[in-house]
Amino acid sequence: HLRTAPTLVEDVFESVQKRNPHEPEFQQAVHEVLESIAPVLEEHPQFEGAGILERIVEPERQIMFRVPWVDDTGRLQVNRGYRVQFSSVLGPYKGGLRFHPSVNLSIIKFLGFEQIFKNALTGQGIGGAKGGSDFDPHGRSDAEVMRFCQSFMSELYRHLGEHTDVPAGDIGVGAREIGYLFGQYRKITNRHESGMFTGKGVQWGGAEVRTEATGYGAVFFVEAMLAVHGETLAGRRVGVSGSGNVALYAMEKARQLGALPVTASDSSGYVVDDAGIDLGLLREIKEVRRGRIAEYVEHRTSARFVPGERPWNVPMDVAIPSATQNELDAADAEALIANGVRAVAEGANMPSTPEAVAAFQDAGVLFGPGKAVNAGGVATSALEMSQNASRQRWNFPDSERRLHEIMLGVHDASFEAARRYGHEGDYVVGANCAGFERVAHAMLAQGV
Ligand code: GLU
Repeated sequence: HLRTAPTLVEDVFESVQKRNPHEPEFQQAVHEVLESIAPVLEEHPQFEGAGILERIVEPERQIMFRVPWVDDTGRLQVNRGYRVQFSSVLGPYKGGLRFHPSVNLSIIKFLGFEQIFKNALTGQGIGGAKGGSDFDPHGRSDAEVMRFCQSFMSELYRHLGEHTDVPAGDIGVGAREIGYLFGQYRKITNRHESGMFTGKGVQWGGAEVRTEATGYGAVFFVEAMLAVHGETLAGRRVGVSGSGNVALYAMEKARQLGALPVTASDSSGYVVDDAGIDLGLLREIKEVRRGRIAEYVEHRTSARFVPGERPWNVPMDVAIPSATQNELDAADAEALIANGVRAVAEGANMPSTPEAVAAFQDAGVLFGPGKAVNAGGVATSALEMSQNASRQRWNFPDSERRLHEIMLGVHDASFEAARRYGHEGDYVVGANCAGFERVAHAMLAQGV
């Protein structure tokens, strides 16, 4: 009694909508994957018999918890913590923690779902998960951030472990937060269990290149997409949104490859600098002083600040949206296309709306989806886990070489799968099919 692939996909999506009402981001992420994988289902009827789709859209485990902490004025604050452990067939649950006021169950589930396929694409033996809190570190003192992190970990620790679940950073969770989180786990468990967290400081178990990995990897992916057409990055204008880790190191690598990064942004607006973004200055403002991006133009006469907007009206050859989900809509896509954009690569998770993706693809723009483009971060987390497990430390050039190799693998797996299923050049279909195939085969082998 097998259904045709489109009917199966439709049935499963309907039940996802029913079971997860009021979760628009999760539904969007599921829809994007389901829409792509019909050809894989047609070729593997055994996946339907094993209920692969019905199972894969339901997290293995979801944890929600109270995070009480005391602020600097002595007032009690309560936030909500999340960890969605989506899939562990390919390895321990793996994925970052996001601290941002917009965090809710829908956002954590969309990110956890994406993470399954992203992690599968890296070929590194890691499952998919995501977590976080609606806590806003912005404007909080170090002491407040520390107390929050300690309270958060006082609950979460019991669900973690190097063979169980291995978090890392994401928006709002950087070196400082990871230090406090790891420290609390160590104190509670009396174990210096390096492999239970990635993105650690390089002096205490962290890996070289982990900080740079997502941004560098995104640019390696762009290079690979261009190379298919005999093109390079040299001399191209690169527009980036965001000003966190992903944005900064995408710009750094783009520059090293002879391109000119011209934009950066935060939630207050964007800067455009036709002389090329000064990365040292940007890092000083955003990372060291934790300030607003408008300060950038006080130090650079070549730059202009545009409040309240995103950079997609600026002429650029390559766009790397690296801020957050749904930051680039159909109108933005049309503006980029009108200005002759050649390639768009998602540094963030799901930054383009479905309408924007369709517009790029219709216009023949090279489009790399986040789960392939930004996989370098979590891939390097897997390298960190390997080093922790074997008590080794690899140097920077060696680690960067491994990252580069993995990104070429992610690109080629996506490109190949798209071709195999009759969608040559469509990296959305390619990444989804290649990632899904790996997870589905493992689920089949391991039984219900
Ligand atoms: N938060 C990153 C991502 O979206 C990295 C996750 C990790 O290293 O575990 O993939």
